[in-house]
Amino acid sequence: MASHTNQVPARSAFSSKQPFNASGFLTAAVYCSDGRFADQVNEFLHHGLRLDGYDRLAIAGGPACFAGHFEAYREEEGAVSHMRFLARLHKLNRLILISHEGCGFYSDFLHLTESGLHDRLRTDLVRAAHRIHEVEPKLALEAYLARLNGSTVWFEPVLIGR
Ligand SMILES: [Zn+2]
Repeated sequence: MASHTNQVPARSAFSSKQPFNASGFLTAAVYCSDGRFADQVNEFLHHGLRLDGYDRLAIAGGPACFAGHFEAYREEEGAVSHMRFLARLHKLNRLILISHEGCGFYSDFLHLTESGLHDRLRTDLVRAAHRIHEVEPKLALEAYLARLNGSTVWFEPVLIGR
């Protein structure tokens, strides 16, 4: 019999234990695609904000894509388009913006160093909220900064002035 050790195991079907929610949700969250924060963001939205569920717009930089950075104007156009699509299709009434410490979007895309980045993250959350309010004024907006304390991720509310 031939050896099959180099073969990829056959994939089998998988059934999720999570029931499907056909009615959908009226809230969406915008956050960075960085998977290191994904489980904590999900936990925060479910247990911290007590959401049953939410639509997701997970993109590199998250809310930074809405903050008017010239270096990322193409990303901003795409992000605004995606956000408007979700808002219209799912009749969203609430949008939650979450940025995170150590975001690679700032160091790699915008070439910003770590110093002063906290202020920048907060300023960008305010700018992102302003931009989103311009295009979707009916959305109630709130913002948070995901911060690190050792291996603990915690979520600091950020005032966005609306
Ligand atoms: Zn990031």
